[in-house]
Order: sequence, then C-alpha cells, then structure tokens
Amino acid sequence: MKMQINGNAVEACSGEFFNIVNPATGELVDRVPKGTENDASMAVEAASSAFNGWASISPQQRAGILYRAVGIVRQRKDELAVLLTREQGKPLAEAKNEIEGFAHVLEYYCGLASSFHGDFVPVPQNGYAFTVKKPLGICAAIIPWNMPALIMAWKIGPALISGNTFVLKPASNTPLTNLTLASILSEAGLPPGVLNIVTGSGEVVGESLVKSSKVKKISFTGEARTGKRVAELAAGGMKRVTLELGGSDPMLVCDDAKLEDAVLGALRGRFYNCGQTCTAVKRLFVFESVAEEFIKKLEAGIRNLRVGNGMHENSDMGPLNNRRQWKYIRELVADVEEKDEGRIVTGGRVPESSACSKGYFFEPTLVVDVLRESRLLKEEVFGPVLPVVRVKNLDEAIEEANNTCYGLGASIWTKNLDNARKGCEQLNAGIIWLNQHLKVAPEVPFGGTRQSGIGRENGPDSLSEYLDLKTVMLKI
Ligand code: NAD
Repeated sequence: MKMQINGNAVEACSGEFFNIVNPATGELVDRVPKGTENDASMAVEAASSAFNGWASISPQQRAGILYRAVGIVRQRKDELAVLLTREQGKPLAEAKNEIEGFAHVLEYYCGLASSFHGDFVPVPQNGYAFTVKKPLGICAAIIPWNMPALIMAWKIGPALISGNTFVLKPASNTPLTNLTLASILSEAGLPPGVLNIVTGSGEVVGESLVKSSKVKKISFTGEARTGKRVAELAAGGMKRVTLELGGSDPMLVCDDAKLEDAVLGALRGRFYNCGQTCTAVKRLFVFESVAEEFIKKLEAGIRNLRVGNGMHENSDMGPLNNRRQWKYIRELVADVEEKDEGRIVTGGRVPESSACSKGYFFEPTLVVDVLRESRLLKEEVFGPVLPVVRVKNLDEAIEEANNTCYGLGASIWTKNLDNARKGCEQLNAGIIWLNQHLKVAPEVPFGGTRQSGIGRENGPDSLSEYLDLKTVMLKI
C-alpha cells in the first residue's frame, strides 16, 4: 500500500518500505513506504494548498462529504475489520466494533456542523463585540497501534468538520486500515490535500510534522515519554498541542458490589484488545471481605477466555501487537516471579498450543496479593496481566488508586450511593466509571490528568481545540 498525499497514492522519496506483519502468524500482510522528512513536507504543502478551498465551504457541505464516507465505511465494515485484525491482532468482533466506532465518531461530528459559531456580546458603555471562530489551518496527528481506526476518527472528525486540513502519521505497524479509511474519504468526495497520510517512523515523519512551521496544531496519542518529546518540540513553534497519553486505571470493588458484574467488568476491562487499551483496568483493588469470592470467580472467568488468532471466531483474545510489547510483558511477569512480588493464580506463560506458536501470544494472567513496590503497580502494564490488591476499606482503596503518576480513568463498583459519591469525587482521573469500566463515547469528553496528558478529545468542546477565536470590538 502507498501513502496518501494530495489525493494520490505515492511511494516514499527514499524508496524504502516497512513490512506490516500479522502478529498472530508472523506472515507478511503488506508493506508501506518508509516516509522521509521530504514526504512529510510534501504532505504539509498539499494540506496548505487545500486549506482555503476546504475552509471556505460551509460546515454543512463538509458534513455531507463525511456522511457519505460514513455510509461507505459501514458498507465495507467486514472487509475493514479483517484488515484491522490482520495488522493489529484483535479479534474480529472487536475490530468490527472499532470500525463502527470510526463511523459513529464521524457521524457525531457531522451532527455538530451547525453548532459552532461566534457570539454577539454587549459590553459596558454602549459597546458591542462579536466573536468569530475560524479553523486553525493545517493540523497534524500522530497515533499509536492499539486502536488505529478509532483514534484516527477522534482526530480527523473535529478537525475536518471545523475546516482544517490534515496530515496523519499512523503507527509504523498498523497503517493499513488508516490508509484504506483515507481512500474511502477521497471516494466520498473529500478534495485532494484535505487529508494526507504519511507512513514512517516517529523520529523522522512524526518529528518533521511537529517541527513544521506550517502546522498549527499537533494532536498526539501514545506513551507519556513520547508525548513529552512532542510537547518540547511543539513549544518551539508555540503550537497548540493535545496529548492523550498512558494510564494505569484502577478498578475499586467494594464489599457491596454485585460481584458477578464486577468480574465481567474486570474481564472486559483488562483483557479487551489483549490488554492494550489506554483505559484498561491496570490495577484492581478489592475489599478484603469479598476478595476470596471475587478472586475465585475472576480466576474461573479468565480460565474460560480462549486465546487465538483474532480471525478465528472462537478467539476471545488475540496476540499482543508486536515483539517489543510481547517481550516487555514476558519480562514483567518473570520479574514478579523472581522477586516474589505476587502470586500468579492463572496464566503467566506463552500458550503452548501449536496454533499460537508463531504469534505474540501470552496467556491472560491473574496475579494476586501484589506487593506495593512491584512494577505491576508502578508501570503502565499494556498487556493481559491483571494485578489484584486487597484493601480494608474505601479510604485505603482510594489512597492506593491515586498512588500513581497517571490519571486517565478509574472505576468504582458499589451499590452504595455514599461510596459512589466519594469515589467520583476523590479518584484522580479524567473519566470515572460507576459499575462499569472502559466505555467511551464521542458525545462526552475523553482525556486524562497528570502524566496521562493535556487537553480533551470528544464532546462538543473538542471543536474549540481546532478553532481560533477572534474578538471584534464595535463602537456604535
Ligand atoms: P508511542 O509513543 O511509542 O508511539 C505513538 C506514536 O508516536 C507512533 O505513531 C510513533 O511512531 C510516534 N512517535 C514515536 N517517537 C516519536 C517522536 N520522537 N516524535 C514524534 N512521534 C513519535 O506509543 P505506542 O507504543 O504506539 O502506544 C501505546 C501507548 O499509547 C500507551 O502508553 C497507551 O496508554 C497510549 N495510548 C493512549 C491513549 C489515550 O487516549 N490516552 C489511547 C491509546 C493509547
């Protein structure tokens, strides 16, 4: 597959390629150009040439084009889901959900087309003012490999509807669905240059986009460490930045929680997408009084999860996405065993079945009575390992839950209103779930506090991240 610049499918200036490998089988799925700085600046030029045309049509006309794309995406959902599974590894059902998520997010922003406009404001001493909202210009996004389609929609949806043009750099190992979605947008009538996709490494293509003096805003999703580098570079050009970074979401299970529901929530919350979700349940705190029963039920649920190639209908959990992540998870669990920092109740190994022998598979793993100093509680565990800690009461649970540098999401499981209120008020996170975990929706803001990032995506306010506000003072 080729990059998409100015409506054309192009090779990299270098003539070099990346291999895209199926993480379940090791097979080559496709190859994509290894973009250069020159490719990044060609994409920025294309976005620059397309800007005046795109910004001058009405938001409703823009919505018409995006709506057409939504229709095509839904028609081609099954084919897109297969492509996503082959490059990313997730089970087909999850891939279909993600493609539907892409469609739903764009549809949501189309619905906001008539909602953003300036105000007319009386000011003291017989004066008036009005405000005007204008697109920023060229915006760029750099995205990770765990949810490439959904995260693409979170970025391009608000940017395009508000009249900006765009350059997207996908993750190096999951660019295929992004490229296909971009070609669908072209087919739906998006003018050439409005959305450009440059494949390539973060260090070369990503940094070129962040440094480009023509790019007015960078929206980044990825690791906190990379986000800091992006913020540093963006500061040089005083660019707007949104950073959606990592998380170490706690799940708190109180003694009055409906345990069956909490078990299902923990299974989905931790093992969806093989644990590679920014808002996955990464630390679980359960009241001592119900811990034994909860852990027994959770263990049974985990043992029932079927690990395998995401293309097979009976797989509940696919492989990790890449070798680096696979190695990290294996080392992390080995470290816990070696230092005796917790008891592995189930999982903890690479599956032995021959069907899993060629991919980056790891068993869904439950580790209980994890020591506070363990890396399992200190690092962002981006894989299928769930550490469980017993706590005496809600105060201890909240204190432990907040003992992290992250602040993306947190959930509290209880039927007691006082517990619920206390959890919602005192947990440090951008999103709090009550008796659920993981659900996100474009209708509401998404983002974190502390090392989990800066700014919010989704919800009507996300448009202001892509609009400049001009004030005009009048004396009448
Ligand atoms: P990553 O930071 O390694 O890479 C993310 C993107 O940044 C990739 O496209 C990569 O090529 C690019 N990149 C790498 N170095 C760069 C540089 N120097 N300059 C510019 N771009 C650069 O992250 P990852 O491993 O792909 O993704 C996993 C991380 O993403 C986890 O920490 C996860 O929690 C986080 N994440 C956060 C959210 C959220 O919304 N908060 C959503 C999904 C994933």
